[in-house]
Amino acid sequence: MLAAACRGPSRPSAPAPASGPVPRLLSRALGPAPVEADLASLCDGIGGRPTGSRACDRAVDWALGRLRDGGVDARTEEWTLPRAWLPTREEGSCLAPARFPLRVAALPRSPATPPGGIEAPVAVLSEGERPGAASAGRILLVATRASADGPPKPDGDALRTLVEESRAAGAAALLVQGARPDDVVYRLAPGEGTDPLPLPAAVVGREGAGRLLRLARNGEVRVSLRVDVDAPGPLAARNVVAEWPGRALQGESVLLVAHLDSWDLGTGALDDGVGAVAILDAMRALRELDLRPRRSVRALLTTGEEQGRLGSAAWVERHRAELPSIALAVVADLGAGTVLGFRVNGRKELGRELLPLLAPLPWIRAPYYLASRDGDGDDRSLADAGVPAVLLWQDLTPLGPRWHAGTDVLERVDPLDARRLAATVAAVAWQAADRPARLGAFRPAPTGTPERALR
Ligand SMILES: [Zn+2]
Repeated sequence: MLAAACRGPSRPSAPAPASGPVPRLLSRALGPAPVEADLASLCDGIGGRPTGSRACDRAVDWALGRLRDGGVDARTEEWTLPRAWLPTREEGSCLAPARFPLRVAALPRSPATPPGGIEAPVAVLSEGERPGAASAGRILLVATRASADGPPKPDGDALRTLVEESRAAGAAALLVQGARPDDVVYRLAPGEGTDPLPLPAAVVGREGAGRLLRLARNGEVRVSLRVDVDAPGPLAARNVVAEWPGRALQGESVLLVAHLDSWDLGTGALDDGVGAVAILDAMRALRELDLRPRRSVRALLTTGEEQGRLGSAAWVERHRAELPSIALAVVADLGAGTVLGFRVNGRKELGRELLPLLAPLPWIRAPYYLASRDGDGDDRSLADAGVPAVLLWQDLTPLGPRWHAGTDVLERVDPLDARRLAATVAAVAWQAADRPARLGAFRPAPTGTPERALR
């Protein structure tokens, strides 16, 4: 993915003036910033917040309240979640030849096991192997290669196929060996959507799975798996939308996007609490400093992103008539790592125009853009609808090992990183909204089939 990078200026093109909107926004964001308190309040006070959960509802109310307290005009917009997926219990054990607990995390949309769980002998599948007749009545265990921070295997669509084939082969359940070390488990989504999977399925911690795989070479291994799930639906879900009116080009706007929902194992600090807080703070900053750019600045804090960007897709449907007026949409959804540039969803001309917007940020030394159209986040919803939509491309060191895991918590967000992200969002928003010419053209119905990334 990084191969398509195009470098921009290697240093800020000119020293920033001592005053002016961007320096004022930067000094506010980098000072004693409210983003840290906001993030603690969201992550510690509310915590993991899958769409359809009470916690997600609280997060929506929280964001609305924070924006309104900051004097920003904000409201919610409902959309319909076909079905929520809210696990209440996930347990696994090896029963024989030795008894020991397994760390497990059900795959999103896994059905519940029968009451009391499933006990069955293990059948091992190597990576890429398809379940056959020997799978009947077994709990399948898929061996994977280690990957400390890279994308987990198998990818979402392949995983969904594997679950379906396991069911067809008569397996009792499917376990996928976690790719990360130290028994870290995470929500590994089998493709997109909200329909239940046909078979109970879970990630099992790497080392626990490794022990099962070694034991299975010498004889029968019996394991148990229990998954309890609430799956209510359809439900009303809500996005949060906010607007800071521009002073001149009132028909045009710059849209800032992050998602409020998260998976539930951690507290969604990196994915995507820090992005949501940065956008919320950028809106508040414009209001607080009474900075009115030419265009309006709008915020969209979505829910349903983890189910396949459902909230942003609903927003696009509802606002289709306004889409041509969006001069740029900027999505923040890669954690707290330093911004390195932009992913421009195939729009190279946009990349070239965007790079100078990072010049006032001295900690961004050599920004670049990625032309790739392989995203599966909220920028995809907007870009597919023709909006010039980009993702802030960031250093993935903080997010990679913690993505969708119990380790995605407040401690893993460096406060300076959070402030810099907020400063970056504010500076980009201001410059994009205030420049005389809009950045990107509206271009509906993009051609070509985007490569799909992993969910
Ligand atoms: Zn995310």
